[in-house]
Amino acid sequence: MAERKTRIATCSLAGCFGCHMSLLDIDERLFELVKHVEFDRTPLNDIKEVGPCDVGIVEGGICNAENVHVLKAFRKNCRILVAVGACAINGGVPAMRNNVDLWDCFQEVYQYEAGTEGQIIPNDRELPLPFDKVHPVHEVVHVDYFLPGCPPPADLFWQFLTDLLAGREPVLDRSLVHYD
Ligand code: SF4
Repeated sequence: MAERKTRIATCSLAGCFGCHMSLLDIDERLFELVKHVEFDRTPLNDIKEVGPCDVGIVEGGICNAENVHVLKAFRKNCRILVAVGACAINGGVPAMRNNVDLWDCFQEVYQYEAGTEGQIIPNDRELPLPFDKVHPVHEVVHVDYFLPGCPPPADLFWQFLTDLLAGREPVLDRSLVHYD
């Protein structure tokens, strides 16, 4: 009988997609991975809605209302939720704006930056409501595993996923964790 493949979804909230790039850096091991895994919603296949999954991988923190909506859908549908990278775990680079008033931040970006003088600050109902602060994922939903790094290196992703797929409790090899 054919092996049931593990169903994995991924998303990027307030992140830079660097964690996704690092996942792809497992390179030729992707061929081994897809023997055992099928992907649900992920930027890698452009599926927009998450369905029932075994594992949800979340990159990025929470900076707006849409992030909360996506994250809650992941938590509801994914048996195991994994926060990957500094942005998901503690807010990371986007959280550097937490010490700045949000309106000042908007003015700096949209009106004071060279070339933006006289421009208006985007304000459209289609845009997600921004939050005053950027929050880590675990402040909004329960997280089962944290994969640190900026980004977590490809070898760390590989070790984590192979442990999970083998039914082992993942062990974090600290020699594989770095932040550059
Ligand atoms: Fe990008 Fe680093 Fe944040 Fe990952 S943790 S989304 S690589 S800034």
